[in-house]
Amino acid sequence: MKFLDLNAQYESIRAQIDGAVARVIRESSFILGADLQKLEAEIANYCGVHFAVGLNSGTDALAAALRALQIGPGDEVITTPFSFFATAEVIALVGAKPVFVDIEPTTYNLDSKKIEAAITKKTRALLPVHLYGQPADMDQILQVAQKYKLEVIEDAAQALGAKLHEKHVGSLGKIGCFSFFPSKNLGAYGDGGMLVTDDEAVVSYVRKWRVHGSTEKYHHEFLGVSSRLDNLQAAILLAKFPHLDTWNAKRREVAQRYTTLLSGAPKLITPTVLANSEHTFHQYTVRIEGNKRNEVKERLAAAGVPTMVYYPSPLHAQPALKHLGYANSDFPEAIRASEQVLSLPIYPEIKLPDQEKVATLLREILS
Ligand SMILES: *Cc1c(COP(=O)(O)O)cnc(C)c1O
Repeated sequence: MKFLDLNAQYESIRAQIDGAVARVIRESSFILGADLQKLEAEIANYCGVHFAVGLNSGTDALAAALRALQIGPGDEVITTPFSFFATAEVIALVGAKPVFVDIEPTTYNLDSKKIEAAITKKTRALLPVHLYGQPADMDQILQVAQKYKLEVIEDAAQALGAKLHEKHVGSLGKIGCFSFFPSKNLGAYGDGGMLVTDDEAVVSYVRKWRVHGSTEKYHHEFLGVSSRLDNLQAAILLAKFPHLDTWNAKRREVAQRYTTLLSGAPKLITPTVLANSEHTFHQYTVRIEGNKRNEVKERLAAAGVPTMVYYPSPLHAQPALKHLGYANSDFPEAIRASEQVLSLPIYPEIKLPDQEKVATLLREILS
């Protein structure tokens, strides 16, 4: 059994992918080509925003968002300590200070009730993550942002297609950032990312930023980077994009089936799905109460069931961010989550017998 089977997806759309790749190579249209423009238009339209800009990675989309809002030295950005490293890395990279607020234990997302206490005169933005594909508590986050005049950047890297009150994540704050890392719900065959927004000034900045701060060839208005989404990757993503909603719906079915198969298992907490929101189940993550998570993981692995831990260490404890001076006692829920979460195999094509094997074994181990 695989934790994620990207080949199963490829086999189901092989003709479209191979055709798109061959065409782009034949056209020699590699940088800022027509496929990228088309993908940007389609994703903007899908998210219900005016603009989308393709970048090298989700990380660069986050960095571009911070740069476009002129967030840098002297500024603070409030975010979650329980995410992929890039979320906080980009804040520190632009010279600002990542300020962590603990998570809410049922969704593992930023605890919106704790944000206000972390706001200072230096706070410029809130950067929530829609972890595992579940929308963060944006109602409350947007309310706090409005009250204190803060920008909101959504790290929607795991959540393309997720919705809150029928609105797509990424379109709720000022800027939304997506990743097309191969294992994401809409994955390229390489790195890729995209930023979406309704703000013209942001888009104008980011379109220049990704080509060395220029619009005209050999005229550079500011220092940028080299960070376009490859046209080849855009063509691959265009071939996959029409299937995204179906794939996400399948993931929700798989998740529902796990929850049914695992119901009543001792010491096990299955994911909570909030009302008014649509989860993309980028991960199906359970909590193993107590301190046996690693042992459970090893026993599953020994029986041929691969699982993953997202994430084994909260961000404040990473060596690269030690200088921020946080202690584990500052984030008890993030620490507890890092010790107890376990993500089970999930992808649209996963077979029922595999799911049953995962659930049966997990029940056996826990009883
Ligand atoms: C994947 C991911 C990123 C980074 O995306 P890349 O495309 O790999 O740079 C950022 N934040 C979160 C929450 C992610 O899952």
